[in-house]
Amino acid sequence: MDDVVIIGGGIIGAASAYFLSKEGRKVKVVERDPTYKKASFPLSLGGFRRQFFQKENILLGKFAREFIFQIPELLKTAKNPKPTASVVPNGYLFLFGSEHAPEQYEALKNHKACEAGTKNIKGSELKKIFPYVNDEGIETVTYTDNQMEGWMDPHMFHAALKNKAMELGARFVKGEIKNISEVKAKIVISAVGYCTNELLKDIPVFPQKHTVFRVSCPKHIPEMPLTSDFTTGVYWRPEGKEYLAGSPISKFDAKDLEPEWNDFEELVWPALAKRIPVFEKLKLTGGWAGYYDCNKLDNNAVIGKHPKYENLYIASGFTGRGLMQAPGVGRALTELITTGSYQSIDLSGLAVERVLENKKSPEPYVL
Ligand SMILES: Cc1cc2nc3c(=O)[nH]c(=O)nc-3n(C[C@H](O)[C@H](O)[C@H](O)COP(=O)(O)OP(=O)(O)OC[C@H]3O[C@@H](n4cnc5c(N)ncnc54)[C@H](O)[C@@H]3O)c2cc1C
Repeated sequence: MDDVVIIGGGIIGAASAYFLSKEGRKVKVVERDPTYKKASFPLSLGGFRRQFFQKENILLGKFAREFIFQIPELLKTAKNPKPTASVVPNGYLFLFGSEHAPEQYEALKNHKACEAGTKNIKGSELKKIFPYVNDEGIETVTYTDNQMEGWMDPHMFHAALKNKAMELGARFVKGEIKNISEVKAKIVISAVGYCTNELLKDIPVFPQKHTVFRVSCPKHIPEMPLTSDFTTGVYWRPEGKEYLAGSPISKFDAKDLEPEWNDFEELVWPALAKRIPVFEKLKLTGGWAGYYDCNKLDNNAVIGKHPKYENLYIASGFTGRGLMQAPGVGRALTELITTGSYQSIDLSGLAVERVLENKKSPEPYVL
């Protein structure tokens, strides 16, 4: 019998393998597609942030930053003595109209309690700090500076975690688990992302298709943060000399991962041009779509032991934030498995029981 088997070798599987191996557990990771073609993590925007509503998510975002900045030291291996995830710590900028501002004032109380360091200014002050943003219709603005938020290369992050886990003894094998009962191990972790409901019918985590567009613009603003305009639901960030922009429309039951190209002219471009006037001149250069592992109950993660099984743990339902939460979740699962309780960040509010009992703990800030 194996010691620990992790189903799914994506970012959550790799981070969990790293933290468990560090504690001396013998870990086997079973991944059905080692090219990760349709996995969520390679298709993500790579963002890490602490600007959330729920305290668990704020604290996981703070730990993400701490971990990511230590990648060269923590994840170095004999084969790769200088790992990096190409971090761009430009921060996040959230723009709220009168409709969403009251919710953000509430969220800021949690930010303060968690010492997130978020800054808050009135919409009328926006141009003093971000002169290229149009402040029309913006009541309140939150942002971070001091390199606390930003984005990274998801492939490089995954590779660094996986390689370090392997150096510590974890084995990654190809295989598809069709039923949890097939797995013979002391501990089983389900880390199958948007496929969770296929394996566990009582967990409402489903694939939700999101489209990202790549655009070029004659004016390059390299210092621009990852910006989310909550008046339109459109978000964007620089990518090298270009920009990436996410559609505000998502889709369940999508037949394929063909980008929703019509969203660009109908929704994304007008929203971008209104908010960043120089974006009127932008050109579409590409795009892709990927699946969020969406928890339909409340857009919040499901983490912990499944009460109906003796040895099954779950980490899923990250709804657009699994990349940044991977280090905190891998560490938390390891604490739970090795000591029986959370030692660093208390994630009991995200327990499987809440989902089985239909108790919502909504996270509104899904980009
Ligand atoms: C367009 C887009 C933008 C995003 N932007 C961000 C962002 O900026 N920041 C952020 O933090 N997150 C972002 N995300 C979300 C993030 O990518 C996911 O939350 C995260 O990848 C989930 O990690 P995971 O390991 O659970 O799932 P995945 O990355 O999907 O990995 C799961 C793995 O399990 C394997 N698997 C599935 N079923 C089985 C089975 N039965 N047997 C064996 N293997 C199996 C799959 O092949 C896959 O490799 C974004 C996602 C998308 C699509």
